[in-house]
Amino acid sequence: MAQTDYGIVEIMQMDACTGCSFCVDVCPAVLAAGDGRLSGEYRINELRRIMRSRTGFLQKFLGRKAPTREQLKPFSDNVFACTLCGRCQQICPSGIRLKDLWVSLRQDMVHSQAYPKRIDMINENLAESHNVFDEDNEERAEWVEDMPAAPDHGYIKDQADVVYFTGCVSSYYPMVQTIPIALVQILTVAHVDFTLLGEEEWCCGFPLLGAGLRDQARDLIQHNIEAVRAKGARKVIFSCPSCYQMWQEHYPKEFEIYHITQFVNELLASGQLAFNDLSLTVTYHDPCDLGRGTGEYEAPRQVIRSIPGVELVEMAHNRENCLCCGGGGNLEMIDPGLSADIAKIKIDEAMQTGAQVIVTACQQCVRTMTTYAKRNKIPIKIMDITQLIHKAMLDKGRSGSS
Ligand code: SF4
Ligand code: SF4
Repeated sequence: MAQTDYGIVEIMQMDACTGCSFCVDVCPAVLAAGDGRLSGEYRINELRRIMRSRTGFLQKFLGRKAPTREQLKPFSDNVFACTLCGRCQQICPSGIRLKDLWVSLRQDMVHSQAYPKRIDMINENLAESHNVFDEDNEERAEWVEDMPAAPDHGYIKDQADVVYFTGCVSSYYPMVQTIPIALVQILTVAHVDFTLLGEEEWCCGFPLLGAGLRDQARDLIQHNIEAVRAKGARKVIFSCPSCYQMWQEHYPKEFEIYHITQFVNELLASGQLAFNDLSLTVTYHDPCDLGRGTGEYEAPRQVIRSIPGVELVEMAHNRENCLCCGGGGNLEMIDPGLSADIAKIKIDEAMQTGAQVIVTACQQCVRTMTTYAKRNKIPIKIMDITQLIHKAMLDKGRSGSS
């Protein structure tokens, strides 16, 4: 029993559901699985039933028992079959903070010992290795070794004005290590005084929230704050929208933080960056954690529009209505089949635009969509916005090392 996993506002909001079903119609998990029980409406009704059985009249006077771990298990499977995309929260006319509620609900399932076993793996990996892949954390910046023109310091300096917080996926997953490789070259060309944290960067803690392990994130947060302080940095920049959202919502407000698209717009405005003509038609996929998560829809579009020759064509669902790629909320790890079915809907919609490339601003979106497109031989390229920027700069012949 874990009633204390919910804040007072969350408990009050549970009763605000009118049963309008708006959240059913927009949920990517419902659309992909054809199962209304994966919706916010179903989940909130079940949660209310469970809460009433744990406390209140039924429990006190009629002796109704709270559900056992075994009875909770099917509901727990439902709770984790969600990408935490936040589309339900965005559309709910009653203003229920549904995504936040799903995170609390996951924590409840963990405290009630009714959760997918893979959650233990995330917890153990982060406690022991400080990254989601259980790799040696000393190898966090090993991707620099793939750069023939890297400086001797390997982009890890003792002191710098800006810290580039790379994030676990881009640090370790080969398919998307091209993102930090592109970004350090962009920063170098723009003469930004920056450093990586290297092995002193630990996971931001975001995967722990999605796993229902909110309390375990504290040590990671404290460590990362101290690591940035030690560099004497004023600013922290992120290519990962989940790290950016985590820092925005759960870290002390000690540093100026930027998603890389916001930072690049400043570099463009100050004349530190300029682009060559690329002649390309692209569509932009709003990552859930950057768009609905932090409200940043315009900065990436502004970057794309700044590249001469690049035409931006929007998908039918864009900005706050953007369809999830299927890769969030640890779903890819828990239910890869459902994750791929959600990716299919996304890719189908992108293909309708006639774009040559899907540009996004998230390594996980790149990973999920590329994997689906490659497996199914779909002729569209998926690119992170850092790679697009780098491509525009490369044509200008200005990349190099410092
Ligand atoms: S959109 Fe909000 S009010 Fe409507 S069914 Fe879903 S949770 Fe309830
Ligand atoms: S967060 Fe996204 S996947 Fe989860 S219930 Fe809401 S709309 Fe569906």
